[in-house]
Amino acid sequence: MNARTTPSPPHAATPAPPGRPTNDPGRALLTITQRPDTVFVDGRGSWLVDEQGKRHLDLVQGWAVNSLGHSPAVITHALAVQAQRLLNPGPAYYNRPMIDLAERLADLTCFDRVFLASSGAEANEGAVKLARRWGSRKRGGAHEIIGFEHGFHGRTLAMMSASGKPGWSSLYPPMPAGFAKARFNDIGSVERAISPHSVAVMIELVQGEAGVVPADPGFVRELRALTAEKGLLLIVDEVQTGIGRCGRGFAYELYGVEPDVMTLAKGLGGGLPLAAMLCKEHLNCFEPGDQGGTFCGNPLMAAVGLAVVNEVCRTDFLEGVRARAQQLSIALQAIVRDHALVAERGAGLLRALVLPDDRADRVVAAARDLQPVGLLLNAPRGHLLRLMPALTISEAEIDEAMRLLRRALGDANGASGTGMPT
Ligand SMILES: *Cc1c(COP(=O)(O)O)cnc(C)c1O
Repeated sequence: MNARTTPSPPHAATPAPPGRPTNDPGRALLTITQRPDTVFVDGRGSWLVDEQGKRHLDLVQGWAVNSLGHSPAVITHALAVQAQRLLNPGPAYYNRPMIDLAERLADLTCFDRVFLASSGAEANEGAVKLARRWGSRKRGGAHEIIGFEHGFHGRTLAMMSASGKPGWSSLYPPMPAGFAKARFNDIGSVERAISPHSVAVMIELVQGEAGVVPADPGFVRELRALTAEKGLLLIVDEVQTGIGRCGRGFAYELYGVEPDVMTLAKGLGGGLPLAAMLCKEHLNCFEPGDQGGTFCGNPLMAAVGLAVVNEVCRTDFLEGVRARAQQLSIALQAIVRDHALVAERGAGLLRALVLPDDRADRVVAAARDLQPVGLLLNAPRGHLLRLMPALTISEAEIDEAMRLLRRALGDANGASGTGMPT
């Protein structure tokens, strides 16, 4: 053994394949991303604990999925109760949590029908299929979906086509066709993208992966009017923005428009794989067999979703989210001033700090390495930090996170930087 202090897991004695370092925790995992060596073993609320026992204040929360933080009692309880009753009768039969969650989501939103799925990409694919089905029946075969540059809708082949991430359209050729692109917050570009084949516009009201860029309210109102006038569906991808993340149950409420279709995932499952595609009654146009999935509507995840929604979509809970969001935004503005950064922006508890140069990865590493407690941040771009804490983060935890962030900004800037550890 080398000098590494990590206690070996019990089955680490298996010899590693030649050429792979024996102390790489990911030696048997397919390489898909670069992870730090830290191995997390426990989580509670806004805190994660690694194998060394070090605590980390988590402002990533699994990319905004843990709406109620790590291992909240409402979810572990819902899981335990449902797991002992019924795991999965199969998608061809009704189960009680599936029915209850669909009705709850319909009650809370402007939509009437709900399709349950397991991931955001799957829900978005469902939305595209629905739009194409509707287009084939009501719009003479119109099928093209207009998305936005820098948009993000998931990682299946079709959702890579729907997304506007630079480089994605040529990563796994041939890519599915039928996806046009317009410029975010530019209504003229949407008008120009419309063709006789167009059937829908698909948009994130706050572009998340692009760096937390909110749509302009005027643009969204014009987009709703334009799509209505041209007979196109408006699909909002609220995978990241929905379920309280932006301080309202759903971000479309902030804009005062009613979309035709909405997708949810991330926060809906509170950390577990659950997604939904919701639509108006007149779009309930799949024939039996047109759409489905083995795990769609399984009672275990539906019971979790119901517990999450019942907690998050309460008036007092959402008021708390807005209060924490305001606290976080004000604290970030002060950091922008004190550390000569560019800006802070966002909606609710989905926020970003714009840095003057490409130092985001260094800040993320410096924050993680702080002692005695670390801070977990996300850098969707070289010059951008994204913060998406649990919606249950406390006032004191935000204060602590801001103290840690100031130290990390100082560390990433070098010892003589503008950072002022407090
Ligand atoms: C994360 C995300 C997706 C993809 O969700 P998965 O569950 O990873 O498939 C889609 N759209 C938006 C806006 C997202 O943030």
